[in-house]
Amino acid sequence: MHVLFLEVDTESAWAVASLGPAFLAATLRAQGHGAGFFRVTTAVGLDEVRAAVAREQPDLIGVSVTTRQWLRARDLLAGLREHVDVPVILGGLHATFSPEEVLRHPGIDYVCLGEGEAALLELVEALREGRALRDARLGRIRNIWARGGLRPGLRPPIEPIDAIPFAARDLLDERWGVVHVSTQRGCPFPCTYCGARMYDELYAGEDGPAYGRRRSHGNVLAELRALRDAGALNYVIFLDDTFTIHHPWVREFCRRYPQEVGRPFSLHARVETVNPRMLQELAAAGCRLIVYGVESGSPRVRREIMQRSASNQRFVDVFRWTREAGIGVTANYILGTPGETVAEMEETLALHRRLQPDDFGFFVFYPYPGTALFTLCRERGYLPDDYLERPALHRRSILRLPGVSPEDIDAMYARWTEARIDAMVARGVPAQEVAQVREAALAHAACG
Ligand code: SF4
Repeated sequence: MHVLFLEVDTESAWAVASLGPAFLAATLRAQGHGAGFFRVTTAVGLDEVRAAVAREQPDLIGVSVTTRQWLRARDLLAGLREHVDVPVILGGLHATFSPEEVLRHPGIDYVCLGEGEAALLELVEALREGRALRDARLGRIRNIWARGGLRPGLRPPIEPIDAIPFAARDLLDERWGVVHVSTQRGCPFPCTYCGARMYDELYAGEDGPAYGRRRSHGNVLAELRALRDAGALNYVIFLDDTFTIHHPWVREFCRRYPQEVGRPFSLHARVETVNPRMLQELAAAGCRLIVYGVESGSPRVRREIMQRSASNQRFVDVFRWTREAGIGVTANYILGTPGETVAEMEETLALHRRLQPDDFGFFVFYPYPGTALFTLCRERGYLPDDYLERPALHRRSILRLPGVSPEDIDAMYARWTEARIDAMVARGVPAQEVAQVREAALAHAACG
């Protein structure tokens, strides 16, 4: 059996493809099935997707979607179904947490809830035997929900997680020897705006192991060694939501990584999970950059709305320790969180000026289905009636918030854009490039 995975882009700038299908493809191939990949860039239309399907002749089409990708994927798959009669399955965050909504749309036959490797394999076997639709509709294929069928139960998360084959890197569209690696699944923190942790909640009431699991050092390092020995490794980006949880694991990693892999790397961390000693060890192991989620400069917003307890002073200290260790710092911020005032958005800009990160990202809040803040927005009437048709672009707010208007948030977004441009000028980026960024940012803000 052959599965074609489509990666649906919503931005023209290149980014690595979704990690999930790379694990699914590796699992299928390990069992003798085929897996192909086609990237639906923003320049690609339905005709090219049809041509890719005609070339690959798949028995199943798989698409992993975040909420950001959903609307484009939905329209594409509806169009595809008018020409191609191949079953389609959607997985990933949006499919898992909005399955009824996803299954309402034409061109989508199955949704995969939660972890997909074992479930997809079982579905493919059932397709081969001609019983997939019947079994899935009866809820007999755990995690696989068929259109018009019963909601299935969940199978336990795969344990040990080392049993999952290394990612099939031809599905990631990586470049320049920069590889993307995850060493764990799940996140133990309770941030109310975050979709990543919802898998932990999904599995919380289930029998079997917890969703949060981490690969062994041997498994992670063996994958990286193989890539290095094949001449395909210049830099590693660890995509784990918080690489620095469980300090004994991180310390052992820092001890072995320089000898066994010896390539520079970057990671994501929370300020609560690092200390000066760990940062020194990470730097000695080759860490060049850490991305921290700051999110808000208002301690009240972080504590009462986002469920994040770190103080502003903690951010200041950790950013200083990180720089002192010789590691670059990137900060991410959110504006327009429900319950946040304009003055509190100002506090975020003020904290940013204190932190002086090497780089930063800023995002207008979007309510991801399944998160605590999505529920709050729905219950308080902040969601517009057509919210399902509003893409998750993070540039303009889709919410009707009391006390903060969309124009307030637009104005704040424009100030962040100016802060980005100032940072580029300070770094000596050529004026023409700066002007292009300004134009693009303002055009994006205008169209949402
Ligand atoms: S620490 Fe990061 S991944 Fe974990 S819940 Fe918070 S925002 Fe999400």
